[in-house]
Amino acid sequence: MTHASSHSEAADVAVVGAGVVGLAAAWALARRGLRVLLLERADGPAQGASFANGAQLSYAYTDAMAGPALWRQLPAMLSGRDPALRPRLSADPQLLRWGLALLGNATAARQRRNTMATLALALESKAAMDALLASHPIDFQHRVAGKLHLHFDANARPRAQAMIEAKRPFGVRQRWLDAAEAVALEPALAGVRGMVGAVHSPEEEVGDPHRFCAGLLDVLQAGYGVEARFSFDLRGAHRRHDGWRLVSADGEALHAGRLMVCAGIDSHGLLRSLGIASPLMAIKGHSFTAPCGPNPPSASITDTARKLVFCRLGDRIRVAGLADINDWDAAPDPARLAQLVALARASLPDAADYDRIEHRWAGLRPATPHSSPVIRRIDDRLLLNIGHGMLGWTLAMGSGERAANLLLDMP
Ligand SMILES: Cc1cc2nc3c(=O)[nH]c(=O)nc-3n(C[C@H](O)[C@H](O)[C@H](O)COP(=O)(O)OP(=O)(O)OC[C@H]3O[C@@H](n4cnc5c(N)ncnc54)[C@H](O)[C@@H]3O)c2cc1C
Repeated sequence: MTHASSHSEAADVAVVGAGVVGLAAAWALARRGLRVLLLERADGPAQGASFANGAQLSYAYTDAMAGPALWRQLPAMLSGRDPALRPRLSADPQLLRWGLALLGNATAARQRRNTMATLALALESKAAMDALLASHPIDFQHRVAGKLHLHFDANARPRAQAMIEAKRPFGVRQRWLDAAEAVALEPALAGVRGMVGAVHSPEEEVGDPHRFCAGLLDVLQAGYGVEARFSFDLRGAHRRHDGWRLVSADGEALHAGRLMVCAGIDSHGLLRSLGIASPLMAIKGHSFTAPCGPNPPSASITDTARKLVFCRLGDRIRVAGLADINDWDAAPDPARLAQLVALARASLPDAADYDRIEHRWAGLRPATPHSSPVIRRIDDRLLLNIGHGMLGWTLAMGSGERAANLLLDMP
């Protein structure tokens, strides 16, 4: 196997998108000895959904979005009373198809099946991440923080317990804590009102996703000869007898034998231009990053009622949340950000210094109705690695391995 690449030769594979999914795929491909060309519209890595997400490597908590609870949430969602979950209703057939498929997945049996399918990929991701970091120690504020999912509904325990039991045979460690036990474990929860208990996942990890992506890009370029072309906005993908002619918005043409689409939410439009339908829906989320407050959590915290996550990165707290379904505009919305800050203050008032927010951000989650990505070979020359939704960073490394094996026709 050689890691050197000659840039005058056509690449074996072009990967479109240098978000966390494309970078992880490039790593898996380059390690298998392929010459990889990474094409990215932005001027650096991870400028899309992978930039300032919730920072969670949530390998154990892979619970699918659609389940029986969705039916209960529906009236508040559709009437705009749920501040966290908002559909942007339109006559777009893609929304109708996706919405119906989401509801089709909202049964207990399907939720369990989808959760387990995602769990398998998450565990592969953890193994792939551990192997990467053992050989290339990337500095991205990575740590095993553990995670607490806070519950406020008196009926939550049996449902949570059933999911814990279902995951146990796969080696996943999770346990239900009552409210007092949760506070004893994480003193930052002392002021939380109405909490009935929490699911504790002690092995969950956190880190800064943008720093991870920048570090992985360095590894790919320095050690594996991956050619990364930034500011290359792919507009035309044309099949030739020996592969692809890939044309940018500026008219520059590059060549590659095979094409792997890892373009996040923009995969939808890219695939449509190739005559391929995708099951993707944009679910917009927001985040903000602020200095720690007087009582910041050390574990990462998910408030399941307000649907937001708190994650400590050094002396900063990242808060991420909100799910605006069918909002395809990635620009941060000041009104939604203000709502996110209000929800976070109500949840953990002393976690962050909410008056000194340093960074505000929004991103589009590329979501499928079943909450698992689509890793699929269309034919010998085209492969999809898309739809990583709420857990793209968590699932990226395992997805890269699966996609590379599919491309090389390996089991
Ligand atoms: C608020 C929020 C919180 C989240 N929290 C978490 C979390 O805690 N843990 C977790 O695991 N996941 C989380 N996610 C989900 C995760 O961030 C995404 O699933 C993941 O980043 C998707 O990665 P991607 O590489 O597919 O997409 P992106 O990061 O969006 O990358 C796609 C790239 O393709 C490029 N591109 C698109 N079209 C073209 C083209 N034609 N030519 C060239 N380049 C192109 C784009 O510029 C972009 O850089 C969160 C998401 C949001 C929005």
